[in-house]
Amino acid sequence: MSVVDDIKNQIDIVDIVSDNVKLRRTGKNFIGFCPFHANTHTPSFVVFPDSGTWRCFGQCSEGGDVFSYVMKRDGCDFQTALELLAKKAGVELTPYTKDDKPREEKQRLYDLMDEAVTYFHNNLTQHPAGKNALEFLTGKRGLKQETIEKFRLGYALQSWDGLTQHLMGKGYTRQELIDTGVVSEQRDEKGEVIPNGRIYDRFRNRVMIPINDSRGNPIAFGARILDPNDTPKFLNSPQTVLFDKGKTLFALNEARPAIREKDQVVLVEGYMDVIVLHQEGFANTVCPMGTALTDFQAKQLTRQTKHIVLALDGDAAGYHAAVKDIDIIREASASETPGDSQALLRQESRLNVDIRIVTIPEGLDPDEVVLDNPEKWEEIIQTAKPIVIHMMETLARDRDLGDAKTKSEIAAKIMPLIREVPDAIERETYRQQLARFLDIDESLLTYTGHTVSPGSGTRRAFPAKPRLKTSADAMVFDPRDSFYNKENEILRCLYRYYENPGALAAIDRKLRKFHLEAMSPADFNQTDLHEIARIYFRALDQDEELDTRAYIENNLPESVRDTFTTLKNKKSDPMNDLQELDEEVLRSVAFMRQEKCEYEKIDIQSLLSDKETDAESAKNYEKILDRTLERRRLLDILIDNINVMDFRK
Ligand SMILES: [Zn+2]
Repeated sequence: MSVVDDIKNQIDIVDIVSDNVKLRRTGKNFIGFCPFHANTHTPSFVVFPDSGTWRCFGQCSEGGDVFSYVMKRDGCDFQTALELLAKKAGVELTPYTKDDKPREEKQRLYDLMDEAVTYFHNNLTQHPAGKNALEFLTGKRGLKQETIEKFRLGYALQSWDGLTQHLMGKGYTRQELIDTGVVSEQRDEKGEVIPNGRIYDRFRNRVMIPINDSRGNPIAFGARILDPNDTPKFLNSPQTVLFDKGKTLFALNEARPAIREKDQVVLVEGYMDVIVLHQEGFANTVCPMGTALTDFQAKQLTRQTKHIVLALDGDAAGYHAAVKDIDIIREASASETPGDSQALLRQESRLNVDIRIVTIPEGLDPDEVVLDNPEKWEEIIQTAKPIVIHMMETLARDRDLGDAKTKSEIAAKIMPLIREVPDAIERETYRQQLARFLDIDESLLTYTGHTVSPGSGTRRAFPAKPRLKTSADAMVFDPRDSFYNKENEILRCLYRYYENPGALAAIDRKLRKFHLEAMSPADFNQTDLHEIARIYFRALDQDEELDTRAYIENNLPESVRDTFTTLKNKKSDPMNDLQELDEEVLRSVAFMRQEKCEYEKIDIQSLLSDKETDAESAKNYEKILDRTLERRRLLDILIDNINVMDFRK
């Protein structure tokens, strides 16, 4: 994650804008008078907290992210805005260095982890002491030899220095062992680390499950006990430079092709469940690291699919358990706290994903179910229900639905959830379903009549203002996050044109032919990418003889060099056919612009449906909406014609 991303995740744009603009809530967004043009009559400045963006629908008709806001407000450059916001976010800025030493050092840590995986794996498969563990895995847990190989499972000996000796023998230093978390350091009676004290193997007599990053590099271990008297049952590696719990999903690298193929991801709660499910043909399964699913993890998933199924152990928390500190997935499903389901619903609508919840029959684990009968697992997944329906059924479980108080209580908890559903038809359908479910007249279920009364066991009903980017809302999606990737990809392709600037002109000609504007930095809304694009397009404007690449390298602001280096170094398929590259770029640009139009449409429609929007503003919004729709139409025509274009003309 780049430092720009990091800052965006930490900072709430509503807070920043509120410093000098008085904002009022309108639906999901906030509105106020634009600070960038003189106006006192119509508020036209909208902040979209979900995407962390702003836009003036008035005279300026401009918009951007939190960086561009600060740059415009303070009249400063990107570096200054970056420094200011980094300070606010508590993010440390490290000066860009051309020195690759840290990268080399990190590579050694990856190599060390790989060596440790091999060591544990050999213990399991070849060492006599690994026999018990092997029997446990192949017997009780039903793993096949090939599964053990595929996930490179291992065994940590009942030894204090087996791994330590092995790794030191391979030339790794004490510090490197500490840095990767494979050893523990000796502590005094107060629990403080003794400087230069003894180090010893962190994992002993445990089954070792390597945890890989999203590219498949081992970065940590999950370790399960063999001796039932040992505690804890599962022991994870600590956070290290390589391993960040909140940014890792177990088996994501292995699951990615299946997630794409099935266009669905299933989240379960345990590593062993994931491994067995993969073995039995359900490779679209992953699990978070034993805690809440973070926004980062959620975003990783939504890059593969929009269909998320949360599969939860039925007996794990119990339906009436206190929900504090239990992961958000379970909170949303098993708790009676509508607030959490509400958060989940908001995420669902923000990201335009379909989240469904399924409960594994009580007393069963996913791995047991699938080993017993793979079809049964398929059946269970198919019973996954939308969040609202799941909540209805959960709340009604073991309750007397003939009781008037019970009915009222359930209605009071479900109606606020239904209100969160963005789609009107879906919303009405839920309302009808709820009426039927409770066997009451639909007219009794109004969106405003049922507020959750205090003391009904609700932790939070409606937060006054959604604090979207805090750890409390653990599973937070950013719907327009994918634009970052799209813009990034397009910019990367453009960079490949450095030898052939004429190609870009050809693309621009095609765009203009369909009455669309030529490519420009305006296509890049993410400020760091926008900055790079700005230099790129300026480079193209220079003397033809000039080396575009050198110009970019020499003129790039320091603050975006990291982003640029990543972009530049990303491997790409050799594309011999220039026509193919042109087509790809044009298509990506068209699709991205089209998607942006789609979001713009949604944003404007939400403003139009706001009760407080006055007639004059509404007229203005409608005008903008018409323009957006027209642009969309032109893009549709362009996309239909890409296949038959000749780019060399
Ligand atoms: Zn303005």
